[in-house]
Amino acid sequence: MATIDGATVLARCLKTQGVDFMFGIVGFPVQSIASAAQREGIKFIGMRNEQAASYAARAAGYLTGRPQACLTVTGPGVIHAIAGLADAQQNCWPMILIGGASPTFQIGMGSFQEERQVSAVQQFCKYAAAAESVARIPFLVEQAIRTSFYGRPGPVYLDMPDDIISGQIEEEEIKYKPRIPDPPRTPAPQENIDAALGVLRSAERPLVIVGKGMAWARAEDEVREFIDRTQLPFLATPMGKGIVPDDHPLSTAAARSYVLRNADVVFLMGARLNWMLHYGLPPRYDPNVRFVQLDIAPEAIGLNVPAEVALVGDGKAVTGQLNKALEEHPWEYPAETRWRTGIADTVATNRATTDKLLNDDSTPMNYYRALREIRDVLPRDAVLVNEGAGTMDIGRQVFNNYLPRTRLDAGTYGTMGVGSGSAIAAAVVNPNRRVFCVQGDSAFGFGGMEVETAIRHNLPITFIIINNNGIGGGPSEFEPGKPLPPGAYTPQAHYERIAEAFGSKGYFVDRTEDLGPALKAAMAEPKPAIVNVMIATRSPRKPQEFTWAASMRQQ
Ligand code: ADP
Ligand code: MG
Repeated sequence: MATIDGATVLARCLKTQGVDFMFGIVGFPVQSIASAAQREGIKFIGMRNEQAASYAARAAGYLTGRPQACLTVTGPGVIHAIAGLADAQQNCWPMILIGGASPTFQIGMGSFQEERQVSAVQQFCKYAAAAESVARIPFLVEQAIRTSFYGRPGPVYLDMPDDIISGQIEEEEIKYKPRIPDPPRTPAPQENIDAALGVLRSAERPLVIVGKGMAWARAEDEVREFIDRTQLPFLATPMGKGIVPDDHPLSTAAARSYVLRNADVVFLMGARLNWMLHYGLPPRYDPNVRFVQLDIAPEAIGLNVPAEVALVGDGKAVTGQLNKALEEHPWEYPAETRWRTGIADTVATNRATTDKLLNDDSTPMNYYRALREIRDVLPRDAVLVNEGAGTMDIGRQVFNNYLPRTRLDAGTYGTMGVGSGSAIAAAVVNPNRRVFCVQGDSAFGFGGMEVETAIRHNLPITFIIINNNGIGGGPSEFEPGKPLPPGAYTPQAHYERIAEAFGSKGYFVDRTEDLGPALKAAMAEPKPAIVNVMIATRSPRKPQEFTWAASMRQQ
């Protein structure tokens, strides 16, 4: 009779459950898991830091629709990857972290890299368990993966002790589990569908907010149909961009503050009233605004402001129900209202302000001018990874997305440094799309060594660094004898040379007229290249009535 080891059983179960990608770093005791994964047909991407690997796994889960894996060594490896678990939890994205662990018979003995991993990850996971035997692996993998992506998605953890990884079992003793079907698409009760449409019909100044929950739900066709049927003005959240194309005539992106402040009814579709939506409270909203809320998680309903109607269910199913009701009883928000005129006027005023910055050819460049040049070379189906402070905030205004799940940024947790992991995930899961990783110089620094990973795997990524010498901009020269400013990094750093170290090309741009040609040259490189763009260290921003994370008076 043939025997099989724990690593192979684990890899086989993961593959059955739709884990096609594993991001990680090998070492004791997980080397054999990575090899088994490759034998079972899982693509293993060896990375340079577990933090970036965990960020990659969570982005890959969001993009593929099923949890993908991160593999780490014991102790410090798992601790580094908690960054991705916490970030996945905040974004409601699925992933499975597999941590190697000390042999079960050495627990408590002070063994190599020993750590209490299951309890360490607990508060960042929907589920965390340790394999107690090879025979239990199929059960544990099925339970972990199902928990990760059924209901509101989130991260899960599986601890794999050394002796279970290498443990042998008779093949016939393994009871494999079948593939978990895609998550059930739960509809909302019909009375709530009718009530929701009733509230929308009663609105004078309605607004739909489309969040990334709808992108996860693959509800893009239904949401587009809903917007087209109702003719309601909509606003996409940062990663909700592209569910309905940003150039749709009903997009209110260029009047964001105005529509939030003045809407009398807001329909939240797969988005939460957290800091990113200013809690749904004054002064950013009308004190009497009414909310209709669609979410898969009942506990999300009423966060910070009660919902007048709750549509608890799957975004694709529930929006389909709304469309069906509208087909039976058509209704659309009138074409000519003061609300529409107010939005159009605000868009025009805001555009005029931004256009000045977008067209300012002075050197050094401002953010808008640099990002505009990038915008102009992006293919329509590009995946855009965008993070940094100014680079991301202004990128949200300048860059458009036309397809769902084509934008990855710092997300709900506001994590700086997710970009390189996200870009690698996006390139690996979408081999036919171009990925652009547009980061501030500080954001790039967190995972800059992953450029080596991208070049080694020949991924179609162009790295673009918007360099202002530090966090929020640093000086162009350090003053001798003075302490270094806390947020300042090496002035005029040549980050582009990192690409050269691994056999690709880098471009340093400090003159406005050189940026377009440098971007085109970088995109034509056969390997991932870096464009390092020096901008003004005090680059101006459009005057904001409220800052993005505007503080709120205590209630
Ligand atoms: P955004 O950052 O775009 O505002 P959030 O992360 O705040 O989005 O909110 C996304 C919401 O989507 C979460 O509350 C989550 O529960 C919800 N969600 C997740 N999956 C689904 C689904 N299949 N259908 C509907 N809502 C979903
Ligand atoms: Mg910077």
